[in-house]
Amino acid sequence: MSNSRKQIAVVGGSFGGINAAYELHRRFGQKAEIVVVSKDRDFTFHPSLPWVILGWRDPRAVQIPIEAPLQRKGIRFVHGEVERLDPNQCEIATNSETFHYDAALIASGAELDYAAIPGLGPHSGHTHSTFTVEEAVRARDALARVMAQESGRIVVGAAPGASCIGPAYELVMMIDTALKRLKKRHRFSLTFLTPEPFIGHFGVGGIGASPRMVQDEFAERSIDTVINAQIVEAQPDRVVLHDGSEYLYDFSLVIPAFRGAAFVRSVAGLANPKGFVTVNRQMASENFPNIFAAGVAIAIPPPRPTPVPVAVPKTGHMTELMARAAARNLAAEFQGGSKVDGLTIPSSCIADAGDTSFYLAADPFLPPRNRVITKKGKWARYLKLMFEKYYLAQIRYDLPPLDFGW
Ligand SMILES: Cc1cc2nc3c(=O)[nH]c(=O)nc-3n(C[C@H](O)[C@H](O)[C@H](O)COP(=O)(O)OP(=O)(O)OC[C@H]3O[C@@H](n4cnc5c(N)ncnc54)[C@H](O)[C@@H]3O)c2cc1C
Repeated sequence: MSNSRKQIAVVGGSFGGINAAYELHRRFGQKAEIVVVSKDRDFTFHPSLPWVILGWRDPRAVQIPIEAPLQRKGIRFVHGEVERLDPNQCEIATNSETFHYDAALIASGAELDYAAIPGLGPHSGHTHSTFTVEEAVRARDALARVMAQESGRIVVGAAPGASCIGPAYELVMMIDTALKRLKKRHRFSLTFLTPEPFIGHFGVGGIGASPRMVQDEFAERSIDTVINAQIVEAQPDRVVLHDGSEYLYDFSLVIPAFRGAAFVRSVAGLANPKGFVTVNRQMASENFPNIFAAGVAIAIPPPRPTPVPVAVPKTGHMTELMARAAARNLAAEFQGGSKVDGLTIPSSCIADAGDTSFYLAADPFLPPRNRVITKKGKWARYLKLMFEKYYLAQIRYDLPPLDFGW
C-alpha cells in the first residue's frame, strides 16, 4: 500500500458516523484526512425523543453540535447533504463541494418513507412521528392539547415494513401512565396498531420472554392491540387498515417504514431494493471493497418472514459496535491487521413505560442466541437516563463503548 495520506470520507454524523470517525482517527492518526459529512449539524440522542413528546425532557438537553468535537481531533466536518456517490471515480458530491475518497464509510441512517402511505406523517400528512426534535416537539404540543380534553382517542402504531417499533411501545405505555396521573385514563381509549405477528416481536421474533412480558403489560394497561396491522391510509381523524377497519383518533403517532438515503439508492450494486447497503460480515460493501457501512444504513434480512413485513431494528448500541468494527476493518485494508465480524454483535435496549421500564438484551441480537436478559423495573429508567448522558459525552469526548460485560 502507498504511504500517501489517505482520504477517508464518513457520511453521517450520528451514532454510526461519529463513532466510526473517532475509531478511524485512533487507527490512522495523521496518516489520513478524515472527513465527516452530515446534513445535520447536531447529534440527537433519539432514544430520549419519546420523553420529549410526553413533555418530560427539554429538547435542548438531547442534542449537541458535532463540529467542535470533531475539529478538536483534526477531523474535518462538512455540513451538507451527499447528493451523489460515484464508486468508480471514488467521488462524493454534496450540495456544497465534491471530493475524492480512498475509502468511504456510509452511516447515513435511513429516510423516513412517509410517502409510502397516503396521509402519513407530520409534514404533509396527519399523523405525528418521533424521529427528529422538530417532530417530537410538534407531537408534544398536539398530545398536550388532546390530553387536556375531558376524553379522547389515541392511536399509536407502526407502518408495514417499519423497523424501529420500540419507541411506539414506549409512547403508548408512557401516555397510559401520564393519563393515569391525570386521573383521566378511564375516559381515553389507547390503541396500538402493529405490523408484528405478535406483541413483543420487535422485528427479531422476540427477545426471550419479551412477548409474554409485553402482552401482560398491555393487558394490565387496557391497551387495545391489533397485530398484523397493515396501515394503508391516514385520514385527518382515522387510520385505515388493509382489511377496511378504521381507528378513529384525536391524536395519532405512526412509525413509518424506512428506506435508504437517496444517494445510496442511486448507486447500482451498492444496496438492496429498499436502499440499504449490502455488506459482508466485515461491514464492507459486497461490490465495492473500499466502501464500508454501519448502523441503520445497512441491510439485515429478517430472521424469518412475517405475514405483514417487519424490518430488523438496528439500535444505537448495535450501531456503535458496527461502526467501530467497520472503521477497524477499513483501517486494516490499508495498514494490515486482523478484521472483525461486525454483524455477530449483542444488542441492549431499554424501553421506558412511564411508571416502570424494561431492559432487554440479546447476544447475538438475532436468534439463536447465547444469552438473553429480560428484566422489568423502575431502575432501568434511570439506566436509560444515564445512557443519554453517557452517549452525549461519548460524542463530545470520544469515550469508549459501553461494556455490558457480554
Ligand atoms: C424515537 C427513537 C427512539 C429510539 N430508542 C432507542 C433506544 O432506546 N435504544 C437504542 O439503542 N436505540 C434507539 N433508537 C435507535 C437509534 O437512534 C438508532 O439506532 C441510531 O440513531 C442509528 O444511528 P445511525 O448513525 O445508523 O443513523 P442515524 O441516527 O439515522 O443518523 C444518520 C446520519 O446521517 C446523516 N445523513 C443522512 N443522509 C445524509 C446525506 N444524504 N448526506 C449527509 N448526511 C446524511 C444524518 O444527518 C445523520 O447525521 C431509537 C430511535 C428513535 C428514532
